[in-house]
Amino acid sequence: MTLRELGEFGFIERLAAMGTCALPGLEVGIGDDCAIVNFHGGRLAIKADMMVEGRHFRLDWMTPEEAGARAMTAVLSDLAAMGARPLYALTSLALPPEWPAEQALALGEGLLRQAESHGACLAGGDTVAAHEHAVVDVMAIGECGEHIWLRSGAQAGDGVYVTGRLGGPAAAVAAKLRGLAGIPSWERYSRPVPRVAQAGRLNRLEAIHAAMDISDGLVQDARHVATRSGVGIVIEAARLPVYPGVEEIAARLGLDPLQWALGGGEEFELLITAPVKAAQELQAAAGDLPVTLIGAVTAGEGVVVVDEAGRAMPVPSAGWDQFRS
Ligand code: ADP
Ligand code: MG
Repeated sequence: MTLRELGEFGFIERLAAMGTCALPGLEVGIGDDCAIVNFHGGRLAIKADMMVEGRHFRLDWMTPEEAGARAMTAVLSDLAAMGARPLYALTSLALPPEWPAEQALALGEGLLRQAESHGACLAGGDTVAAHEHAVVDVMAIGECGEHIWLRSGAQAGDGVYVTGRLGGPAAAVAAKLRGLAGIPSWERYSRPVPRVAQAGRLNRLEAIHAAMDISDGLVQDARHVATRSGVGIVIEAARLPVYPGVEEIAARLGLDPLQWALGGGEEFELLITAPVKAAQELQAAAGDLPVTLIGAVTAGEGVVVVDEAGRAMPVPSAGWDQFRS
């Protein structure tokens, strides 16, 4: 069997089944946005995230600073998804020796500045030579807040909420690949912002039962919440907040903007489940960032997307899989 046949998530499941951590402090292991470790009474969230040049970023599409910042964003977003405050990051870089030194330094600066602007610092890492494509791996540790948001906490009857507006990154990539100029959502792709500040304020609320970040696409990530919580999730398509300009890009390309909002990855927004009556306090805590009620948690299983008449709609069958996409 090849890895493509096994799939990214099949591989991770097999790895997780090989053994359990024998150390006492591990409260959440493989399977959530971060691991949670109880270390001498303080709880830490830990996560690593890797990006490969040519697959996850292209230097003819973005500056080296943007590529570095984006790699840091991915890991900070996972910490935010647990309600944790980022503290220390380590970055391992594999860089081709032929690269201009300025380019490598700019990538490093992007990593460092993005950590700083979210209250974290770069504390170390490793540097090696790469054959052809750069590889940027970032590991970060954060301090858990009052509540630790797990993917497994969703309760039937909860509302399903999403922060921000969706579809921007997927629309930007589709437009770029087709040579469109003046892409309105380009910065959503090249300069994504992890929702660290908002997560810090949202974490003080009692209302939130579950959260994860949308890095692999809304529907696929909602499936992880549904599976781990043993519930179903219904998403109402008409409620989805679509990023400004995405509909215009879709019209210019003759494509369906909804599929980008449902299936597009690298949004770095938060998917939250909380009671419907908590809508106002969630919005107040998130400030300027919209928090939209997009559906409900049910006693069923799986994820369905429904139209205004309540009919099930076709959804992207698989979101992002590293070995298949
Ligand atoms: P996310 O999309 O939130 O970054 P992933 O889908 O990449 O999460 O990973 C799912 C889970 O599997 C996470 O808990 C992650 O820590 C774990 N995981 C992924 N790859 C590995 C690996 N090579 N070794 C151990 N755990 C892994
Ligand atoms: Mg995640």
